[in-house]
Amino acid sequence: MPFDPSSFSGIFQYLVGFGAAFFAALWLSLIIWTFRDIRARTRDSFARILAVLVVAVLNVLGIVIYLILRPGRTLEEEYQRTLEEEALLKAIEEINTCPGCGRHTREDWVICPTCQTRLKKSCPACHKLLELPWSICPYCGAAAGETPSASTSNSDQLLQV
Ligand SMILES: [Zn+2]
Ligand SMILES: [Zn+2]
Repeated sequence: MPFDPSSFSGIFQYLVGFGAAFFAALWLSLIIWTFRDIRARTRDSFARILAVLVVAVLNVLGIVIYLILRPGRTLEEEYQRTLEEEALLKAIEEINTCPGCGRHTREDWVICPTCQTRLKKSCPACHKLLELPWSICPYCGAAAGETPSASTSNSDQLLQV
């Protein structure tokens, strides 16, 4: 089979064309990926333009630089983090403040020393501190009794019957 230079150059041209098309597609998709990624990470339009420009000019090297310098968290992750922190702070505040006067209280206080609001009740059987709405003691299983206001309304009902 004789060597045919024209068919060889045809294949070569085809390969070069294919390679060029591939790199053009890769270049374009890197730019699109960077644009989407930076859009999820910052609202600063200058940073967005800069990130896309770096990748557009330097291509794969630009991606490396971008991956090193980009903000560590996406806006969504940042938002979730803020929510979690707020929920945590709120839980801590709720545990340690008096519902009557809003002053700080301790976990083991039964009554607020400032406004005399009842904070906790003690179990009639094991004397551990229970939350006011609990009707049964979680430590020993004894009936914890009603809250003072509920018990008076109950006795009123009994008197009426
Ligand atoms: Zn109080
Ligand atoms: Zn108990």
